[in-house]
Amino acid sequence: MTETVTDFDVGAVRAQFPILQRELDGNPLIYLDNAATTQKPQAVIDALVDYYTQCNSNVHRGAHQLSDEATKRFENARKTVANFINAAAVEEVIWTSGTTEGINIIAKGMAQRLKAGDEVLVTQMEHHANLVTWQQACKASGAQLKVVPIDEQGNLSIEAFDQLLSDRTRLLAMPHVSNALGTVNPIVSLTAKAKAKGALVLIDGAQGVAHGDVDVQAIGADFYVFSGHKLFGPTGIGVLWGRKAVLEDWPIWLTGGEMIATVTYEDATWGALPNRLEAGTPNIAGAIGMAAAIDWFQALDINAVKAHEQALLEHALELAKDIPGMRIVGNADNKIGILSFVIEGIHPADIGFLLDRQGIAIRTGDHCAQPLMQRLGVPGTARASFTIYNTLQDVDALFKGLKKAAMMLA
Ligand code: PLP
Repeated sequence: MTETVTDFDVGAVRAQFPILQRELDGNPLIYLDNAATTQKPQAVIDALVDYYTQCNSNVHRGAHQLSDEATKRFENARKTVANFINAAAVEEVIWTSGTTEGINIIAKGMAQRLKAGDEVLVTQMEHHANLVTWQQACKASGAQLKVVPIDEQGNLSIEAFDQLLSDRTRLLAMPHVSNALGTVNPIVSLTAKAKAKGALVLIDGAQGVAHGDVDVQAIGADFYVFSGHKLFGPTGIGVLWGRKAVLEDWPIWLTGGEMIATVTYEDATWGALPNRLEAGTPNIAGAIGMAAAIDWFQALDINAVKAHEQALLEHALELAKDIPGMRIVGNADNKIGILSFVIEGIHPADIGFLLDRQGIAIRTGDHCAQPLMQRLGVPGTARASFTIYNTLQDVDALFKGLKKAAMMLA
């Protein structure tokens, strides 16, 4: 199954994802819910099986060979992540359970440092993970949350950003890419502006990391957080990358084993990075699986990947013109392969249900962005999200399915 539109060999990629061979009620699976989670290539599944069958053991503390091997694999995985995002030092990579936990670690510390009069800047397109967390940190500290608006197309208003950013801004927390709209934000220039005001900058990279070549040093932020499962890796593992100088004295958030230097009955002192922010037994298999996913992803030609995803999006936008009453929600100038839409007279949940009956998996609802849906005046949307293993035929099937759904509901 090769495509003519780009020189990307999508057939060879698909062959590495066993789940894509599945059928649902006699229909071949067409998986278009990649913004929620991506499928896993055989290389990742093999890495998990190999870890559990060959060297399962606890890390860092064992006096035996299995523990040594597990520790090596685990710490090599950290190096893989550090190289992947071009971190200046490997100890800047902190394992988390995912993007949400990464944001919460920083928000917990930030809440201790914020005070009345301080401001935190977020955007109207936040996922709840990067909104509720800052809302609560502001409530706890008396700081004020400021929200940068978007325009009707889903572009962030740079004019409003410039007005809202001030000497009182202590933190800018914003998404690299919007999960609901696909908007790619100009994070490098906005980070530079915020840094010039002395603010810390956190980038929510949940959607950005699998669609581009992230270079944390080039971005210039203080924190970049992401999840393994949106990057072809396992669930339950993610990364908080933080600038070493900032993380070194970041308030500890979880206490226990691994993160201490010394302990008495009366008190304790904290270890060095990265351990000081990683209490307890980590998700060892998850870290190894995530590194396998990164190795797998990095073997692809990133420019071909980007061109392929854009070709899928363009094809979808062309076919959308043929669906009566269909409106695309999110038409930013710079966007990835996320197609959020509503169809007049049909509830998004019904679209999702009727597509599912045809083996087509999309996501419907508010996409963990209720305030954004309110801003856009929709109860929710249907969202098809494309990635490297999707084909033009998948997009064709989506629109064939939509036509059928519309007919059934007419
Ligand atoms: N931020 C964005 C932009 C997301 O799309 C998501 C998940 O969809 C998250 C944060 C939360 O990620 P996780 O559930 O993996 O912690």
